[in-house]
Amino acid sequence: MGRGCATPLVPCASVSLLVQKFGGTSVVDADRIKAVADHIVRTRREGDDVVVVVSAMGRTTDELERLAHEVSPAPAPREMDMLLTAGERISISLLCMALIDRSQRAVSFTGSQAGIVTDTSHGKAKIVEVRADRIRDAVAAGDVAVVAGFQGVSTARDVTTLGRGGSDTTAVALAAVLGARACEIYTDVAGVYTADPRIVPEARILPRLSYEEMLDMSATGGRVLALRSVEFARNHGVPVHVRSSFTWQPGTWVEEEDPSMEQAIISGVTHDSSEAKITIQQVPDRPGVAATIFRALADELVNVDMIVQNVSNVSQHTDVSFTVPKEDLPRALRVMEKVQAEIAAAGLSHDPAIGRVSLVGAGMKSHPGVAAQMFEVLASEGINIEMISTSAIRISCVVSETDVEKAVRALHRAFQLEDVGGEA
Ligand code: ASP
Ligand code: MG
Repeated sequence: MGRGCATPLVPCASVSLLVQKFGGTSVVDADRIKAVADHIVRTRREGDDVVVVVSAMGRTTDELERLAHEVSPAPAPREMDMLLTAGERISISLLCMALIDRSQRAVSFTGSQAGIVTDTSHGKAKIVEVRADRIRDAVAAGDVAVVAGFQGVSTARDVTTLGRGGSDTTAVALAAVLGARACEIYTDVAGVYTADPRIVPEARILPRLSYEEMLDMSATGGRVLALRSVEFARNHGVPVHVRSSFTWQPGTWVEEEDPSMEQAIISGVTHDSSEAKITIQQVPDRPGVAATIFRALADELVNVDMIVQNVSNVSQHTDVSFTVPKEDLPRALRVMEKVQAEIAAAGLSHDPAIGRVSLVGAGMKSHPGVAAQMFEVLASEGINIEMISTSAIRISCVVSETDVEKAVRALHRAFQLEDVGGEA
């Protein structure tokens, strides 16, 4: 029964439930697993019920992936999922052993046992339903439920995985369904920073961010939270607290924008060098051409990100450029060679050595001139901008990969992100 319930016969919702997720570095070895167990016990003593989600230990998932590729050049997706889910099975059981040694009742659950039901797309399955009865029962019985992250069971009853970094999504989904007061994401960094501190030593931890800002940050290279988990948190209003499992100090809260609070114009600078650029030259400018190009890429499951089409010139031709993940480049080029012939475009070029630098901030919506200032900063550093894209609260520039770090440092300085609450 939940603590505080009058009688075991009356079902009673937990007064206060936390979901705590621990990433691979937080459970990298036996000592770390024991430290995590100590923290869970501490949290329980402070009065919260706890549901835990864990990732595989350290680089286990990478190692299993590598092993699969040693056995097979193109591992069967169903078997790959069966293999990868083994990683989280190891960490849930070890963590439960450590909890039980600390006189804390604990039960481990695979994704399937936890009721994480997904669609059937192996390797990138989407959660379609969470049937959390067993988790609720465990919590009501006074147990800490320890759930394997990143995995589920499909509507066809096969084991699936949610895509790399998917444990965050498991945690947020469980927090939503269980009505947890927060989802704590414990990691090896202290929170979400104004920029990558390895590039900008003065970077500062942001105490809070709106879902929208975090979405744009995750989508443009902020590596702290998986994009899909942020979408899930926003759609279900789950407050997320990103914090360190090494210092246990408070980190960054990601939650609903507070309209009564003044929004920082810029919250952070992100960067991402994982994409490559493709340009198709002299594309005839007529209806249906863009549809042909991007349908062909979509059919080959190439994830297109930024797209730029220029105004057509007198001969009614235009260049079309777009970015794709570097690992998709060979596949995208094969598709484009066919398309180029089909639509009678003049040429095809590509550049894998690009990077994207983005400014993210909710205050941009009501503050003109941010884009101009960003371009001026890059110009003063002699950095050439190859592509530009914007959303309501983000401006991104594609630059040469070799200019990325310089651009991040210059923007962080120009927008005074090292000062609390201070930007130009
Ligand atoms: N173990 C999986 C991965 O490394 C899931 C996760 O860590 O979130 O991607
Ligand atoms: Mg991970």
